[in-house]
Amino acid sequence: MTTDSGHACREPDLDLELVHAATRVAETACHGELHTVAAAARTRDGRIVTGVNAFHFTGGPCAELVVIGAAVAQGVRELTAMVAVADRGRGVIPPCGRCRQVLLDYYPELTVIINTGGWLRCVPVRELLPEAYVWADQV
Ligand SMILES: [Zn+2]
Repeated sequence: MTTDSGHACREPDLDLELVHAATRVAETACHGELHTVAAAARTRDGRIVTGVNAFHFTGGPCAELVVIGAAVAQGVRELTAMVAVADRGRGVIPPCGRCRQVLLDYYPELTVIINTGGWLRCVPVRELLPEAYVWADQV
């Protein structure tokens, strides 16, 4: 099994449709300096929600955070998997530290697709942020 970017996939349950959705948005919607990364997430009922980052020097949101807001706007409260893809053919990229914390707090059972040395893998978000801070006021 390979993705469009030619990476072999170790995991048979890798959500390639999700990777393809994020790649398509990165290729078609990310232009210039303000929007450089797309993310796609799978909802509990099987739908896909996408978004792109909104760069700003004050700390604009990463694509993963935009997807969270878009999902909520569409009435989705639970996401099961997410992937981020950078524009200009850079492929799957891991979430930054801020996003790892947000994803863990919002969706502790989330699977994140990452690229490890050219291999796409599904990793529980808990493994991406070991010894994580626990958001005490989380509802
Ligand atoms: Zn981020």
